[in-house]
Amino acid sequence: MLLDLIPRMLIGGTLAGVAAGYARRRHQLTLGGEYAAFAVGTAAAIGGFPWLISLAVFFYSSVQLTRWRAGDKRRRSLSVLPDARSRDAWQVLANGGLFAVAAVVWAFSGTWQVGLFGFGALATATADTWATEVGMALKSSPRSILGWQPVIAGTSGGVSAFGLAAAVVGAFVIALCAVYALTVPFDIPRLEAVFVGGLAGTIADSLLGATVQSRRWCDECQAWTERRVHTCGYRSRHRRGFRWMTNDLVNLLATCLGGAVAVGAWLP
Ligand SMILES: [Zn+2]
Repeated sequence: MLLDLIPRMLIGGTLAGVAAGYARRRHQLTLGGEYAAFAVGTAAAIGGFPWLISLAVFFYSSVQLTRWRAGDKRRRSLSVLPDARSRDAWQVLANGGLFAVAAVVWAFSGTWQVGLFGFGALATATADTWATEVGMALKSSPRSILGWQPVIAGTSGGVSAFGLAAAVVGAFVIALCAVYALTVPFDIPRLEAVFVGGLAGTIADSLLGATVQSRRWCDECQAWTERRVHTCGYRSRHRRGFRWMTNDLVNLLATCLGGAVAVGAWLP
């Protein structure tokens, strides 16, 4: 077991290090984010080669989709989202942390539940990231998932047609990865479970984003924002949701729910 594990960790750690370094040079990760991505990648390698490949699919697609029309997205979401688009350590862990933990547990006691949980969490992170990046790149007009009123691009809890389509494809791609990682013969029930988990997690992410996530208000512009200091220069104030419920915490909860739904949706 241990002899098998050490080369896996060395190879996985090297690849993760290279990928994280690449993303940092492209200003998509902070230094902390680079370390966190390295740790998540090494943990995925412990789960095995298919786990590492699946994480690479999530990571590489997210980096590329984030780069797609990046300047345009930044301009459109300027009044809502903070300037720094580099993902920090908390953001990386909120998206990939549960998958990393599941990979390590899988290596030591591989029950199907652990595998499905990990992939349901990764399907959620992928679907949610794709939805945000594609929706914004294609200039979809997002609406609030709750009241259906139009919201500014980048607003948490906003959904759009292109975003939803991207989420469906993202969840499906990770469900295919799960079939590769968790079974030898092609297995439809497991594919469906991870797919359903990923979509449920993404919807939960939007619902939590629209309800309990901390929201700030600029009195000067009469507008919602996630910025502490609004683009007009005035300080925003906390007005809705729980003050401590950050976007990262919402992502973590959503991936956890996506994993749990994947486990529950599997009918062996
Ligand atoms: Zn303002």
